[in-house]
Amino acid sequence: DRENVTISYQPGALPYPPVKLLNPIEKKRVLVTGGAGFVGSHLVDRLMLMGHNVICLDNFFTGSKANVAHWIGHPNFELIRHDVVDPILVEVDQIYHLACPASPVHYQSNPVKTLKTGFFGTYNMLGLSKRVKARFLLASTSEIYGDPEEHPQKESYWGHVNCVGPRACYDEGKRVAETLAYSYHRQDNVDVRVARIFNTFGPRMNWNDGRVVSNFILQALKDEDLTIYGDGKSTRSFQYVHDLVDGLILLMNSDCKEPVNIGTQQEFTIDDFAKTVIDLAKKENGECSSKLIYLPALEDDPQRRKPDNSRAKEQLNWEPKWNVVDGLAETLKYFKTQLEERV
Ligand code: NAD
Ligand code: UDP
Repeated sequence: DRENVTISYQPGALPYPPVKLLNPIEKKRVLVTGGAGFVGSHLVDRLMLMGHNVICLDNFFTGSKANVAHWIGHPNFELIRHDVVDPILVEVDQIYHLACPASPVHYQSNPVKTLKTGFFGTYNMLGLSKRVKARFLLASTSEIYGDPEEHPQKESYWGHVNCVGPRACYDEGKRVAETLAYSYHRQDNVDVRVARIFNTFGPRMNWNDGRVVSNFILQALKDEDLTIYGDGKSTRSFQYVHDLVDGLILLMNSDCKEPVNIGTQQEFTIDDFAKTVIDLAKKENGECSSKLIYLPALEDDPQRRKPDNSRAKEQLNWEPKWNVVDGLAETLKYFKTQLEERV
């Protein structure tokens, strides 16, 4: 009964996945920046299935054409290679602004570019929203809370960010992106929505993503030891990507102008998370000989993270439908297929 399934592309398999036929008043022109990335491509899928016209814009830094290949040539779909650091003009009704590397490995590889994407990318997309009167949704992050002193984190918490540390290019980039959004709202009446996204995983995470979910799954599938940075006692609350996509679409189409946390209450220590992945790999493969190995902790790594998601429940009627372990099992199957295809 879940409408949210991952579409897998079979080369040469036409026709396209079945899209809804909308009347012209309901049918929107939607721009998704970062649409060829992990979250963006699932959002593009859902918007396409809903029957909208979708423009997917990406510079393919961490995303790939393969993530949206199943839509190429569809009359409702357009793919544009573009970097949001440069302005662009397209006539649209809604903009989901996701373009930004999200994994610490990628966003720290070129911190100045990450900051330029955070500031100029958001500035350009807000300028576009102002000009064409499109509603704008920013994919912000739980990372704006930094290493939080409040637990769980409410939207009213101002955060605890080291502005000169290695994560600052991302954290401060997203913080200034939020500031830009609300400044455009106050000054020019741009219609803005801000989603503070907590750790999300699922199929189509980049192979070399470097975040904990893809690292652990790949290590477990290859019988390698799982690399734990620090003592394994830090926590994260994980959500499956289809729940996030539900939340983003509900927020975009709601009247809620305040920032909204989108994340689950399913908080794991990294140790327990690693053990869960090993158990799932055992179920999938019959065996898994991986162990946990402990490496030096990362600088400024947030120690605890869990959203207070009551605002999303009250204002959007949003609640996660997926259990994290079920979502992990799906993701593990996805990576297993990828591994087999690469052999
Ligand atoms: P991702 O790296 O898979 O996707 C980002 C996409 O943006 C990629 O396709 C990349 O090529 C594109 N991109 C990067 N810089 C660009 C630029 N300058 N111009 C055009 N395109 C550019 O990451 P993701 O996990 O899908 O994250 C998507 C968004 O959600 C990001 O804004 C991220 O900050 C936010 N977010 C994600 C998570 C998560 O756990 N996945 C958590 C919090 C926030
Ligand atoms: N982590 C880990 N091993 C890995 C990758 C990540 O122990 O191979 C830890 C990391 O130190 C952090 C948590 O897992 O405490 C989540 O890291 P991730 O990079 O996935 O996301 P973020 O830190 O941005 O929440």
